Amino acid sequence: MTYQTTNPYTEQVVETFTSHSDAQLDNMLAVAADLYETDWRQRSYAERKTIVKQAAALLKERRDEFAKLITLEMGKLFKEAQQEVSLCVKILDYYADNAETFLAPKSIAVKRGEAHVEISPLGVIFCVEPWNFPYYQLARVAAPNLMAGNTLLVKHASNVPQCALAFEQLFIDAGAPVGAYTNVFISSEQVATAIADPRVKGVALTGSERAGASVAATAGKALKKSTMELGGSDVFIVLDDADLDTAVKLAVIGRMQNSGQVCTGSKRFILDEKIAGQFLERFQAELEKLLPGDPMEASTTLAPMSSQAALELALKQVGQALEGGAKVVLGGKRIARNGYFMEPTILTDVAPSNPVYYQEFFAPVAMVFRVKNEQEAITLANDSPFGLGGTVITKDIARGKRIASQIDTGMVFINSPAVTAPELPFGGVKNSGYGRELSDLGIMEFVNRKLVLVG
Ligand code: NAP
Repeated sequence: MTYQTTNPYTEQVVETFTSHSDAQLDNMLAVAADLYETDWRQRSYAERKTIVKQAAALLKERRDEFAKLITLEMGKLFKEAQQEVSLCVKILDYYADNAETFLAPKSIAVKRGEAHVEISPLGVIFCVEPWNFPYYQLARVAAPNLMAGNTLLVKHASNVPQCALAFEQLFIDAGAPVGAYTNVFISSEQVATAIADPRVKGVALTGSERAGASVAATAGKALKKSTMELGGSDVFIVLDDADLDTAVKLAVIGRMQNSGQVCTGSKRFILDEKIAGQFLERFQAELEKLLPGDPMEASTTLAPMSSQAALELALKQVGQALEGGAKVVLGGKRIARNGYFMEPTILTDVAPSNPVYYQEFFAPVAMVFRVKNEQEAITLANDSPFGLGGTVITKDIARGKRIASQIDTGMVFINSPAVTAPELPFGGVKNSGYGRELSDLGIMEFVNRKLVLVG
């Protein structure tokens, strides 16, 4: 795997990085394990907090510098990149401020004597992360684990090496000792070697089902705890009582943020037939207004996709959809200009027999379905191998909550596209993975919850 920056707007290779050798990987593992044992786990929460708070402060100060690297390497609109960096500042601060409370010993009422559960770190945690939110994904694992007393080895996606290095440097600049947070440029085979190594105590992956299945199998074989944050094909249900202004506005955000490359992006639009025609017309009109261009420019509203491979996969899926009987209402093609731009696309008539029906579109492609009623909407929503998030648009909040309870996913948003914040647990069920990141749940994934009982 070549770690390389290719600008998706210019299609130019900017920089190529040398991968780490097996010997270098072994040395980095040794440093991380030794630091954990002799230093990091023994530091107080206050000491670790000083460093994580300093990382947050530096990130805030250097927001635009960090954001530019996101736009350079994976093409995100600069204003979205700035928002991502600001979100990371909040995540770092949140765990720095709350970790000690979350991990405080909890006493248990017992008939005789006394008992409590005390929480301690596990050791080196190995992380595999994707490019679509190049810092946010790292902050989600770094902040809770560093505060819990674990050390981390992180393999980032090969197309965002400069973001990977910048995030590692952030912790060094904030005063973290070498080995607390280590970036590795390694292959999938080396990932497997690292996971099997006895010095690694836990494995966190965010990425595709394919990568998740492979890494989870390696972790399972070595009896290591793992968390898997995988893909999704989230629904955006518009009920017959929905306010269509709100529905259309949120649908555009839900589908088009990050050029459609969001795990919790709205991918299947399920419309009550009473409002379907009106919604579709207005949704299409809004997508037609999006302007491709330089993602650094404030006037650009459609960013390129992250790579040639990502664009080609999306075009291939649209081709399969059409062969399978779907219709294109809008778009469907590459935009004839420099950069990996894809037209915002709307597909209808996607039958369950269509090969794309159960696939994730990690691209600006919306599949639209019409239903007769609420029950049909729920049945269709649950007819998916994925179970990550989903949105329900309705004026009747009680109805929205009732539907939310019947959708088999890890997150449901009523009158909101998928949102994320440090205090909101993030994760899925079914093929979207297991475990949670963020919130108090996220910091509990890689710790020992030890019972101590006095008889
Ligand atoms: P991907 O191909 O699975 O890549 C993700 C990471 O896994 C990269 O670092 C990649 O490295 C690595 N990887 C891939 N195969 C591997 C293997 N066999 N062994 C070890 N590492 C391996 O995912 P993607 O297509 O770039 O990212 C998009 C996917 O991630 C979508 O399905 C999206 O929904 C999902 N996602 C989920 C969440 C969530 O929180 N649930 C968040 C964001 C994205 P290389 O780059 O070197 O191949």
